Amino acid sequence: MSIYQEIKQLVVESSKIVITSHKSPDGDSIGSSLGLYLVLKSLGKDVVICHPDPAPDYLHWVPFVDVIVNWEENKADVQSHFDDADLIFSLDYNEPSRLGEDMGNSLRKTKAKKIMIDHHLHPESYVDVMLSDTSSCSTCQLVFDVVENAGWSEYLNSEAGICLYLGIMTDSGSFRFPSVLPHTHEVVSKLLKLNINHAVIHENINDTNTLDRLRLKGFACAEKLVVNQDLKIAYIWLTKSELERFNHQKGDTEGLVNTALSILGMKAAVLFTEADGYVKISFRSKGSDNPVNTLASTHFNGGGHANASGGRFDGKIDDAINLFLEVAPNYFKY
Ligand code: 5GP
Ligand code: MN
Repeated sequence: MSIYQEIKQLVVESSKIVITSHKSPDGDSIGSSLGLYLVLKSLGKDVVICHPDPAPDYLHWVPFVDVIVNWEENKADVQSHFDDADLIFSLDYNEPSRLGEDMGNSLRKTKAKKIMIDHHLHPESYVDVMLSDTSSCSTCQLVFDVVENAGWSEYLNSEAGICLYLGIMTDSGSFRFPSVLPHTHEVVSKLLKLNINHAVIHENINDTNTLDRLRLKGFACAEKLVVNQDLKIAYIWLTKSELERFNHQKGDTEGLVNTALSILGMKAAVLFTEADGYVKISFRSKGSDNPVNTLASTHFNGGGHANASGGRFDGKIDDAINLFLEVAPNYFKY
């Protein structure tokens, strides 16, 4: 039996289905969750989406985003959905800890069957069926493959199409990253045939700023961007009070680390943002000689893709930066 048939069989056998995705949701986690949700709803399934935390403001236009229940604001509801579930999907993450410690532990304890659909390296085998394809640009592309190969294409409506297009677009940097394959455009071609307005999706993501967000980006680039020419690394660091000064909302710093990486000659770029008691870190790099995921997992309690990873540092922001500069030469080829 193909993996698609295995997934289909588990869905058919289940009456109560829960869809989960990772902390700090992005276009791919929200898009894949809602895309699959809408298809399963059309199939007549009892399905809910449970995320660790709320969707960021910049994704509030996504169809049906309000149906998502989250652990941060409604732990009891999420727990009861977990208790009742026959089947739980893990979308766009590779290990339960990506749900945060408490929700991750809770997921591990459930009796439900589990299916992973993901494109991150090193998936943990806590699931019954694992569709893990690190060559896929996005989880949304994998969800499309599942829908098509399960014979559910007729249940994919234009709203589900918008959701899947969103994740493919955001995770591929608007179809620019090396992860984009001919198959990506084949999938997108089929999504466009659902009569979705792709231009509006691009506009919502790429051409929409609050004034605070735009000023924060300007401040970060003008005042807080450091270029280390010896190491060929650019980094931006933002303290809590600086973020507050610009009324920072989730997602406001999205893309900033890529802007730093765009400086001519850089091998890698990092964004350090101060949170309550810890520092959140985003790593980006160029080329297969300069992966950042091992650096992120070894020193910053994180991980991710070879050229796009994240992590955290429990301590002061200065110490996080110093640690990074100290270990960086061990990870990049000069
Ligand atoms: P971002 O910098 O956009 O927050 O994250 C980039 C990528 O790094 C994400 O797609 C995800 O794969 C990975 N990532 C971010 N934070 C973490 C983390 O705390 N742990 C792990 N394992 N991966 C992370
Ligand atoms: Mn993804």
